[in-house]
Amino acid sequence: MRITKRAAAIAPSMTLEITAKAKQMKNQGISVVSFGAGEPDFNTPEPILFAAQQAMEQGFTKYTPASGMPELKQAIAEKLKRENGLEYTADQIVVSNGAKHSLYNVMQAIVEDGDEVIIPAPYWLTYPELVKLCNGVVVSVTTRVENDFKITAEEFEGAITSKTKAIILNSPNNPTGAVYSKEELYSLAEIAIKHNVFVISDEIYEKLIYDGKEHVSIATHSAEMKDLTIIINGMSKAFSMTGWRIGYLAAPLDIVAGINSIQSHETSNPCSVAQAASVAAFHMDDNFIKEMRNVFDDRRIYAINRIRAIKGLDCLVPQGAFYIMVNVSAFYGKTVDGITINGSLSFAKAMLNRGVAVIPGEPFEADDYVRLSYAIDKAEIEIGLDRIEKFANEVL
Ligand code: PLP
Repeated sequence: MRITKRAAAIAPSMTLEITAKAKQMKNQGISVVSFGAGEPDFNTPEPILFAAQQAMEQGFTKYTPASGMPELKQAIAEKLKRENGLEYTADQIVVSNGAKHSLYNVMQAIVEDGDEVIIPAPYWLTYPELVKLCNGVVVSVTTRVENDFKITAEEFEGAITSKTKAIILNSPNNPTGAVYSKEELYSLAEIAIKHNVFVISDEIYEKLIYDGKEHVSIATHSAEMKDLTIIINGMSKAFSMTGWRIGYLAAPLDIVAGINSIQSHETSNPCSVAQAASVAAFHMDDNFIKEMRNVFDDRRIYAINRIRAIKGLDCLVPQGAFYIMVNVSAFYGKTVDGITINGSLSFAKAMLNRGVAVIPGEPFEADDYVRLSYAIDKAEIEIGLDRIEKFANEVL
């Protein structure tokens, strides 16, 4: 084998594979509704675009400090204070090429060979691959649907061994849409402190939250918890800036020092123009986010009501992000168009033949489910659900 075992062990992203296939079908003129979207379908707001143009015109096109430009790190520290009630200094922030890169850096900085990282399942499929890339061991903990797919303190403690280094928490959650309450987070914090386990807290969907729920960062529990927390966030979802590739983390200084060294050799700074644009994002009022949230909320309620009325389908009410986990196990054992449906992958294949792309739950360790994103036009959602309904009426 010419590539490392490490590289060979990484599973390619199945989410991207299905969305690519759907795109290819569309290019061939086939009508496909794609529920695969992992990014808001909004334009990046004007003030951000304007700041990027200005940055280019003013020659802000050179290297910045590897960990990010001081103004952006300062704006992030102020945001954490203002919105999350957390005191961080600018030198506790590292700006990277997307939150995915921030996560990769954290793993590189804290996971030794053989260290265990707990990941509540269903999970965002990148997490285990990043752990494996650092020769860490993934300990996935299956959460229960009755508990809205949230890990409990008992389940967390039950998964801890002498090798446990960290747990990855993601609230609001991709793919489940679950939002942890303050009480739930604080009971997990007690366990993390008791066993000296890091919490990698991915808060990238914090702005996309519904039903009057409130986003809380686990780091607010106490000084001890803050010292064990690495907060991950980014511009992608809150400001519809997925392509700009700006993510960031906030962490204790010793961890930041390690990450700074890694990033200085790995990529140097993230794009200077995108950083300048991100500073402008933090100076905008809330109107863009509020409007985006309202649009998502309207689609969410529409989609949930439709899904629950379709024969054989069921779903929980997601309270954050822009995904719905739909239980499709009623279809298992049926054969359609020559495809025997025996799991989420074959369900997704059968649905793609009928012009609907959904993301199978199997790679999230949730094989009874498929994930539908409502980051697409409401009219498209309607057409897609009509097709799923027709399929269900025919098959069941
Ligand atoms: N974390 C979660 C849970 C996500 O769903 C995503 C993107 O889909 C990311 C992190 C990464 O975001 P980005 O790298 O665009 O900042």
